[in-house]
Amino acid sequence: MKAAVFKRQNEMAVIEVPNPHPGAGEVVLKVHNCGICGSDLHAVQYGVGLPQDTVMGHEFCGEIHELGSGVEGFKLGERVTSLPFISCGECDACLRDDGMHCARTRGLGLGQLPGAYAEYVLCGEKSLLKLPDNVSSREGALVEPLSVGLHGVNRAKLKPGAGVVVMGAGPIGLSTLLWAKAKGAEAVVVSELAPGRTELAMKLGASAVVNPSKDSPAQKVHALTGRPPEVVFECIGVKSTLASAIDMVGLHGRVVVLGVCMEPDLITPLTCILKEISLEFIVGYNRNEFEETVDALANGRINAKPMITDIIPVDQVPEMFEALKTPGARAKVMVEFPQ
Ligand SMILES: [Zn+2]
Ligand SMILES: [Zn+2]
Repeated sequence: MKAAVFKRQNEMAVIEVPNPHPGAGEVVLKVHNCGICGSDLHAVQYGVGLPQDTVMGHEFCGEIHELGSGVEGFKLGERVTSLPFISCGECDACLRDDGMHCARTRGLGLGQLPGAYAEYVLCGEKSLLKLPDNVSSREGALVEPLSVGLHGVNRAKLKPGAGVVVMGAGPIGLSTLLWAKAKGAEAVVVSELAPGRTELAMKLGASAVVNPSKDSPAQKVHALTGRPPEVVFECIGVKSTLASAIDMVGLHGRVVVLGVCMEPDLITPLTCILKEISLEFIVGYNRNEFEETVDALANGRINAKPMITDIIPVDQVPEMFEALKTPGARAKVMVEFPQ
């Protein structure tokens, strides 16, 4: 089958790889859609931890193509999405719905198990979720990044009527915006330097989009609610953005960090102490959040379709990885396979 793979630092390629076959408790999906994620771009740019010819892609959905022994409750042709890992299902982490932190978990698409920039992908039965008929396959491939936003918003313990800042209008910032609105935030001010992303953030329900080099997002929240922001979501992950988030949040507020900064970064604890703020760091999601996201797409509680700005065939993955070094107005780029 055809697949987009990591070759070496800064280089992706489309090659032929062997088709997967399911073992006990596993299924093979025929992939419909797979989103390109910022962490894929990072991994290829840094080239660390990825064996050559790794099939990447961990935001996907497809239809059941082949069932391994012992798999029950799924039929061939049924559309599903999947958590992008296979965990043991038995340990303490798995039993508290935290399969990401299972010591035996194996992730898809980042070097351990093959991902879904491919015609077929192997998944674990326990990681699958069925997609209702009114959730398209393109939306099905958004469940993963949307669940990251939900995980961050859950951690924020938002109160109805809250005023919040979302730093960054990339896919994770936009997912966070959608969920902050859905969970009762009154004012959601998005902070974004790139002008091309303003329109999209407004379409997804932002109260305002502020260029932080010109205006203060925190003051904008104050203008809308009469209070400083109760929560600031850091969805950028470069040096100094965490300190900005700490500066913006109000007394007893909460900073939730979803952006992945790979370098040491300075903060001033005294600022946190004087305002008695909480810092929350999050990674990923759990199955419960995947389920809530699928339900929210099905019942219209969130509408994430505008996040998809580009649809490409798998052959164009290498050039798109190059193009996304300067994303411009692009948000979620999605690989689509002919069905
Ligand atoms: Zn991702
Ligand atoms: Zn486990």
